[in-house]
Parts: sequence; structure tokens; C-alpha cells
Amino acid sequence: MAGPELIAIGSYFDWDIAAMQAAYTVHAVDSPEALTALPEARRRAVRAIAFKGHAPLGAAQMDLLPGLGMIANYGVGFDAIDVAAARARGIRVSNTPNVLNDDVADLAVAMLLAQSRRLIEGSDWVRSGAWPKQGELPLNRKASGRRAGIVGLGRIGREIADRLAAFKMEIHYHSRTPKDTPAGWTYHADPVSLARAVDDLFVALVGGAETTGYVSREVIEALGPDGVIVNISRGSTIDEAALLDALESGAIRGAGLDVFHNEPNIDPRFLKLDNVVLQPHQGSGTIETRKAMGELQRANLAAFFAEEALVTPVT
Ligand code: NAP
Repeated sequence: MAGPELIAIGSYFDWDIAAMQAAYTVHAVDSPEALTALPEARRRAVRAIAFKGHAPLGAAQMDLLPGLGMIANYGVGFDAIDVAAARARGIRVSNTPNVLNDDVADLAVAMLLAQSRRLIEGSDWVRSGAWPKQGELPLNRKASGRRAGIVGLGRIGREIADRLAAFKMEIHYHSRTPKDTPAGWTYHADPVSLARAVDDLFVALVGGAETTGYVSREVIEALGPDGVIVNISRGSTIDEAALLDALESGAIRGAGLDVFHNEPNIDPRFLKLDNVVLQPHQGSGTIETRKAMGELQRANLAAFFAEEALVTPVT
């Protein structure tokens, strides 16, 4: 290994580690807490972090690395990084937007289809031998042609909406400001009015303090008993206790969830529900996209070390 000192935080694929080692002297650690265990001389030499994961990376960790100039995040969501603390220390931050939009939007639509058409139960029906014994799967629900609401019409939200339009759905959305959209899409200035107007609600907000609980109990209840909520953003964006109450009581019909509070140790109440499709935060989890994310992370690191403009800067 040669080149500038880099700390790789998180669980990387071999191809990412090999590519980083070709350019940097890499020290791999599992989590930000593990930085304290590194020898002081090593910590002092570090110029950049390649960060992956959702464990908090804050001021205390940054202060362990006095030469730190860059945090390159693997992922578009950077809510685990204290960006204000980084900015205050002159540390640059980058993320990996756009390369994952398709996969995350695909999973959002797939979860609506799986929830409505009972794909998981259908597969179990065949595998368990219930089909020849009990006949048809109980009838499920139509997904096409319903009214869809997107909370947060950003990069991923827009990709979800474009897909749902092809499913003949009427598109409604809420963002802080109206967007340039195809004719016929309806803007709602607040999420409660959006939920009242639609059948299915897709959450595509950024995570972080400002959006915590944005999809509130009032929003969830406004969706009504035929509503399905799909969340591919962060567990924090939904009032999870209210969501669980609504799923248990039938105040909404169901949900498709890729993200949760306290992942991966999710609330056990979810496991008892048969009206929820549960996924292990795998929105961007394809070989193609994870390779592209690693490449973009490294392109940002290369730009930092070359003293050029970052490719996809956060700060
Ligand atoms: P984006 O383009 O920045 O869009 C984010 C949306 O959040 C925008 O609509 C924005 O609204 C809204 N927003 C931001 N700050 C807000 C605030 N303070 N109050 C209300 N709304 C706010 O981000 P993206 O690339 O689509 O990614 C969205 C999120 O998806 C990421 O941050 C990440 O957490 C999550 N994600 C999840 C997976 C997964 O594996 N499940 C994978 C990738 C990303 P405005 O339009 O009003 O600015």
C-alpha cells in the first residue's frame, strides 16, 4: 500500500477495498467508534474517510483525526454524518446521488405490488403445498390505477412517480415548493392534504433532524383504511409508533418498508403483522448500483486529493 492515508469505515466489498488500496494507504475499521482504538500516529496521518453505514459520525470522531479534510460518503443519504461539525472544521463531505435512483424507485414500486398482490404469501402458497390442497390464493388487491402520493419529490421521488404514472396512477406530491412536473400531477402544500387526496403514500424524503416524524400520526390517519404506505427513505421520517398502531388497528391497509427505526433490530411488533412487506434496507442493493456507488465515492476522494472540485459535494 502507498499513497495518502485513508480510513475506510464500514463493511466494504472486496472490489472496493482493492480499488482503494490501489490509490491509498487504507486502514479499514467497522464503525466510527473503532477510531479510538487506532494508534495516535496513524490517526494524525489520516487525510480522508471513506464512510459507509448508518452509525453516527460526529464531532468527537472528527476530532480524533486532526488532519482530516474529507469524508466521502457511500450513499446519497448523509444523515449519519454531522455535516455542521464537518463544515465547522473545514472538512469536505460528498455523497453518491443519482446512481441509485432507479434501484430505490424499483424497490418502492415492487413493495407496493408485493403488498397489494400478496407476492410473498403467493410464493409461500406454492412452496408450502397449499395450492393443491386449498386451491386459489385468497383474492388480493389491484395496484394499477390508484391515486399515488409522493412525500418528497426529489431525485428518487421523481423516479417513483414516473414509474407509477406508467401503472396508470394519478400522481400527487408534496415538497416544500412545487416542482416542474408533467401536466396533471397535483401539488399539495402540506402532507396531510396529500394523504387525504390519495390511496397510496410513498415516502422519499431525506432523513435527519428536520424531517423526523414528518409523516406524522395525522398524515397516516388521513390516508385512511384502504391506504398503503411505502417507505424507502429513512425510518426516522415516519412516526413509527403511529404507523404500527395504524397497521395493527386497520386504520391503514398495509405498508411496504425498507427502512426502520433502530435498524437492523426493528420493533418486533412489525413481525406479527401480515399486512406489511418488510425489506432489510436494500434499496440500492444491486451489484450494478453498489459498484457505481463505490466508483463515485472514489471519484470524490480522487478529486479531493487532486485539489479539484468534488464530483458530488454535500459541503
Ligand atoms: P433529494 O433529491 O435530496 O430529495 C429529498 C427530498 O426531501 C426532496 O423532495 C426535499 O424536498 C425533501 N426534503 C429535504 N429536506 C427537507 C426538509 N427539511 N423538510 C421537508 N422536506 C425536505 O434526495 P434523494 O436522492 O431523492 O434521496 C432521498 C433519500 O432517500 C436519501 O436522503 C436517503 O435517506 C434515502 N435513500 C434510501 C435508500 C434505501 O436503500 N432505502 C437508498 C438511497 C437513498 P424539497 O423538494 O422541498 O427540497
